[in-house]
Amino acid sequence: MKRREVLSLLGMTALGAVACQQQQSEQSTGPAIRTTYRWRMATSWPSGFPIFETGARRFAQYIATLSHGKFIIEVDSASKHKAAFGVFDMVRDGQYEMGHSASYYWKGKDPIFSFFTTLPFGMTAIEQTAWFLYGGGEELMQQAYSRYGLVSLNAGNTGVQMGGWFRKEIRGLQDLQGLKMRIPGLAGEVMARLGVQVINLPAGELYQALERNVIDALEWVGPHLDLSMGFQQIASYYYTGWHEPAAELQILINKAAYDRLPKEFQQLLHVAARATALETWSEFTAKNAESFAQLQQQFPNVQIRRFPEEVLIALKKATVEVLDDIAATRQDIKTVWDSYRRFYQQMAPWTEISIESYLQLRKNPSIYQ
Ligand code: CA
Repeated sequence: MKRREVLSLLGMTALGAVACQQQQSEQSTGPAIRTTYRWRMATSWPSGFPIFETGARRFAQYIATLSHGKFIIEVDSASKHKAAFGVFDMVRDGQYEMGHSASYYWKGKDPIFSFFTTLPFGMTAIEQTAWFLYGGGEELMQQAYSRYGLVSLNAGNTGVQMGGWFRKEIRGLQDLQGLKMRIPGLAGEVMARLGVQVINLPAGELYQALERNVIDALEWVGPHLDLSMGFQQIASYYYTGWHEPAAELQILINKAAYDRLPKEFQQLLHVAARATALETWSEFTAKNAESFAQLQQQFPNVQIRRFPEEVLIALKKATVEVLDDIAATRQDIKTVWDSYRRFYQQMAPWTEISIESYLQLRKNPSIYQ
């Protein structure tokens, strides 16, 4: 290359750098946002409900601080608006600009929404998050919600939930016949196929219902939230999970309200939701471990059990049947189920060779000693 050409190229590069700097500086100062946006959020949780509701409030706090007070979200708990399962309608109708809940609560509105919380025997939290962010899951979720004038953001994962509290031991499939159990969502449909009488009750009635034998069993979340409900005092068998391996919470937004926001605030919602999701997931992990230790020390009468092999095999078979039946009803549901299943099938061998192999290796008693 001739010297003159090199100089010319350098000159252009330098000019390009200046132009780029100018552009960045214009972007960073940007036009000042003069309007103050005041939104309201309806949650599906009682006031002060640990991790769920406290996470929603922390999300609102991030938005207020990072917008310099120009975007304020007032959080109303279900204790105030009295419609825990009315959040979808209230946000769609614009009564609230946003909500904090879980997608599978809306399966009665549209069965497609079940696929964006967790699936029985499905992906773990990290696998499912990878599907949402890098496997097309988030895009499919937005397509599903946009039909209802809504935007949905992931807001934190509970991790693997426990299979529930049983007053009597489950020794085989025959023990499920006529068993009265509180277990919502797809898992309830699966259990029903095995002869369980599924009864859904609000959180506030669960303890009494189990104590008074209105129900024989229930599932809730995991050690941290379950212990706060007191189930360990009235049920002796605590089963490991199969039905909600990665329940993702949800921030639901009225799309018309979202479209009226400046781009910066739209992005702020996404970034704050990601931060809240990570914190919520980590908080569940930390507090479940703490509460599980407490359960083992203070309630030695509680026996931790895994369902018998024949029960697990039947549950898995019924799960695939339920999901296939739902997917057969509509092409868009089939697209989501196919996407989830394809990602899962690709992920499983890698999880096995990475996480599962590592966990087995970690159990070796000579390590960490
Ligand atoms: Ca649950």
